[in-house]
Amino acid sequence: MRFDRIAILDWSAASQPRRGKDSIWLGLAGPDGVSAENLPTRFAAEARLRALVADALARGERLLLGADFAFGYPAGFAAQLTGRTEALAVWEWLAGAIKDDAQNRSNRYEVAAAINRQFPGLGPFWFHPNGHDLPGLPLKGSTRHGYGPLDELRATERAARGAQSVWKLGGPGSVGSQALTGLPVLWRLRAGFAGQVAVWPFEPVEDAPVVLAEVFPSLLAAEVKAAMRARAMVPDEAQVRLLAETLLRMQDQDAGLAPLFAAAEGTALTEEGWILGVGQEASLHASAEPVPLIPPRLRDDCFAMPQGVNWVPVDEALARLREALVPLAQVETLPVAAAGGRVLARDVTARRANPPRANSAVDGYGFAHAALAGPGPYTLPLVSGRAAAGQPFAGAVPPGSAIRILTGAILPKGVDCVVLEEDCDSDFARVAFDGPVKPRANTRRAGEDVDAGAQALPSGRVLGAPDLALLSALGVGQVAVFRPLRVGVLSTGDEIVADPSAPAAPHQIYDANRPMLLEIARRWGYQPVDLGHAPDDPAAIAEALGRGAKQADVILTSGGASAGDEDHVSRLLRDSGTLSSWRIALKPGRPLALALWQGVPVLGLPGNPVAAFVCTLIFGRPALSALAGSGWRMAQGFTVPAAFTKTKKPGRREYLRARLNDQGAAEVFASEGSGRISGLSWAEGLVELPDGAAQITPGCPVRYLPYGSFGL
Ligand code: AMP
Ligand code: MG
Repeated sequence: MRFDRIAILDWSAASQPRRGKDSIWLGLAGPDGVSAENLPTRFAAEARLRALVADALARGERLLLGADFAFGYPAGFAAQLTGRTEALAVWEWLAGAIKDDAQNRSNRYEVAAAINRQFPGLGPFWFHPNGHDLPGLPLKGSTRHGYGPLDELRATERAARGAQSVWKLGGPGSVGSQALTGLPVLWRLRAGFAGQVAVWPFEPVEDAPVVLAEVFPSLLAAEVKAAMRARAMVPDEAQVRLLAETLLRMQDQDAGLAPLFAAAEGTALTEEGWILGVGQEASLHASAEPVPLIPPRLRDDCFAMPQGVNWVPVDEALARLREALVPLAQVETLPVAAAGGRVLARDVTARRANPPRANSAVDGYGFAHAALAGPGPYTLPLVSGRAAAGQPFAGAVPPGSAIRILTGAILPKGVDCVVLEEDCDSDFARVAFDGPVKPRANTRRAGEDVDAGAQALPSGRVLGAPDLALLSALGVGQVAVFRPLRVGVLSTGDEIVADPSAPAAPHQIYDANRPMLLEIARRWGYQPVDLGHAPDDPAAIAEALGRGAKQADVILTSGGASAGDEDHVSRLLRDSGTLSSWRIALKPGRPLALALWQGVPVLGLPGNPVAAFVCTLIFGRPALSALAGSGWRMAQGFTVPAAFTKTKKPGRREYLRARLNDQGAAEVFASEGSGRISGLSWAEGLVELPDGAAQITPGCPVRYLPYGSFGL
């Protein structure tokens, strides 16, 4: 039992042409490697299968074609329907009854209803789509009765965990419609290559060039999950590739595929069929290629909004985003002088106190405060020598004497107080000054700023110029910092022209978003990664995202994020199985797509530059700072009087392009049109209007967020 090529078919009973998740996939494993094809209709799939079989026969190859729907029905059904106790009789019967067209419109519900009417009572088939009432086809399984001693599951389905009943034609996970629409296709395939195609386990397969067998890709569920994550595939694609490859590899193990084909017995051999691999799961797992495990940076459903949520308030969207994101893990050590702008990966403690010793805060004269007699004025003899920064006085100053001391000098032994030079008269032998003098006047205590061993800066701190001063003062020469976040930026749209100095046709638009977003990333201290521009073509976008996932830690896309015809970004991300599209109650902005592409978070921004900018500031800034390791950072706004009038409707938050006038009041850009890029440039910040209704007149307090507060 050895095959040159293994094909695994993941069938779909979809009522319209469909691609991606839950559509028809064909996985192929053979001498030229492993591949998968996505076929939009059953018509297209049938033609492809015919070509596949013809090719194999022409090349003299043996082909195993596994299909993921039931090859038989529970015992008793075949005889009742056809008068013969044979699964293939059911295939033939269905091939005569099922009509299916190039647009995936089939009469499977009508056929199921007609079959039901041949049985006494009501059933066994059940379920019909809304508004598709058919006499004899009940909506609920529980209302069936009297159709005889037919089991719900075949023996092989009882042995395979998680299999559903063939009687159920629709609803989550159902398989009934797939068998009804799939079996006629296989019947025609077998008939078209008479004598060359054998169906297991109903026919002898040892010598057949082409063998059809029922498979159940979920037998490799754990491997499929890992493959989906590692290779960003929809589950269907991962399943068909993996099973085809695994069966091919298994032929090189000791017993090969023989034990799998030996598993069927009893009614499985005539009526029910058997799922190839059921009962042999352990050897299947052993043959599956180990997929490299990638720990999920985020859960696949991490961006999902609860069901029924329509317009998400900004604060809720922010809270959910915050929960989902996990910071970078890679850390490197840098000299402090080179660490400006980087994010501390660990708390830093002072290696030394600041100041290290008690010293003088001024230029003047130092002495022991306790030795001053009476309220003053005082005249004290001066010891010879002086104390200066970097030139400590080696001796001790006797009580009642004073010493010349300069700013920063360590207080010599016997000195705990300093008078300011300007408050003194001196002839170099004596010094005179007036009282009263406070104890410890004009001195700095050792460690009064930071004690040795105290925490100097917390992890997550973005190192600014003052931080470099502090760390250096505390004797910290090296710091552990996160490696810079790599931010990929991709523009999408057929109308976009990447180069603003290139000619553009009237229908074309220069790419404004990419330079803007790359610059924002740079200003935020991240490493911008230019992913260029992709047309509205899923393959091109997928290719760019794939590059992005390798080169960046997070990807910002713009354009195509809502749900319109040309919104390929969201469609692609949805088909990849991990998209969440949020309709945020935000103006300008609204559609924000969040997804994982090969494990890398993707923020799908609106195409509109004004909306893309605002969404980046409001959502991108805290999200990226969380990923970069510096925590969830929100802009700090302040309240100023309005210099404008506006009536705002309730239900969404609004950001207006604004700047402060000479009086410190916020004026806003004349037009709120979200295509007005000049307004972004005119503005120096945003005015944030709350979610509820607002009536704003000049002088009303409004919240102003300068661009600077967003780190721009
Ligand atoms: P979309 O989100 O793709 O529907 O785009 C919304 C609007 O933004 C359309 O008018 C696009 O032409 C425009 N747009 C999309 N991407 C860009 C870009 N990179 N630069 C300038 N305008 C853009
Ligand atoms: Mg577009």
